[in-house]
Amino acid sequence: MTNTDSKPVVGISSCVLGEKVRYDGGHKRSAFVTDKLSEFIRFAPACPEMGIGMPVPRPTIHIREIGQQQRLTDSRDAQVDHTDKMQAYFSARLPQLSQLDGYILAAKSPSCGMERIKVYTPEGELLHRKGQGIFVQMLKQQFPDLPMEEDGRLNDEGLRESFITRIFAYHDFRRQVLNTLSVRALVDFHSRNKMLVMAYSPQAYQALGRLVAGAKGHEETISKQYLTLMMRALSKPTNRRKHTNVLMHLQGYFKKQLDKADKQELCEQIDKYRLGYVPLMAPVTLLRHHLKKYPNDYLQQQRYLQPYPEALGLRA
Ligand code: SF4
Repeated sequence: MTNTDSKPVVGISSCVLGEKVRYDGGHKRSAFVTDKLSEFIRFAPACPEMGIGMPVPRPTIHIREIGQQQRLTDSRDAQVDHTDKMQAYFSARLPQLSQLDGYILAAKSPSCGMERIKVYTPEGELLHRKGQGIFVQMLKQQFPDLPMEEDGRLNDEGLRESFITRIFAYHDFRRQVLNTLSVRALVDFHSRNKMLVMAYSPQAYQALGRLVAGAKGHEETISKQYLTLMMRALSKPTNRRKHTNVLMHLQGYFKKQLDKADKQELCEQIDKYRLGYVPLMAPVTLLRHHLKKYPNDYLQQQRYLQPYPEALGLRA
């Protein structure tokens, strides 16, 4: 079904893996990351602050808005500015960063935090809490489509499922499409991911189809546009209604093969899922069971039926 034979490589703030690299000598170990994800994902840990030569423990740093720029400075002394070093560190790591399929970031850090980071005036007064860590700013600018998520947000089931789905889709896209940049590869990828995208955004599903149809002669540009659009679609929350639509669509492929009792059982499972009585895994398992009995090439390759390793248990 889904090709998960090689593990995605995901960058991660070292402290989230449990390394004692924080300013106070502590860590921010995430049990989900170390106990669950590590079996299916290869991590590329890095601590940007240690990467620019800061020790553990170290003086606290924060972001100051100076003129039009945001600078990473010592929290007690604006003259101690680490921004250029961080830029040089980021540039030196670009070859490794460009091989990643996602990034897990530590929340609240002026280097790694993805959102709601405090930003101060040049004098050290709090200006607002709408900043992004300096390292993350660089990461987002260079790799706008790369799936990124903060450690704390991975405790939310919906955000977690969307993030893991994006990591595996991005991984597949990099290997299957960006490596070859052929229309054939793009068409095949689109075919495998139709139901998955539909479960997040029927509009994006249509728009991606139009992109693929016009890819000949513009393979590189269209592939990049495709990735951007798909990643945007998969990062929006989905819901039971959209999943139910896809399940009913898949059910339609078995119209001729299933007898009355099997049809009724499948209908009931989909309806129970729609009403919130059973998890998504229930109707999906039944569909996969029928698929084994009545093979169908198109359905068997659908990433929707297994967007990531089942043992992660995200649909249960
Ligand atoms: S948040 Fe980032 S910079 Fe801070 S300790 Fe963790 S990895 Fe290092």
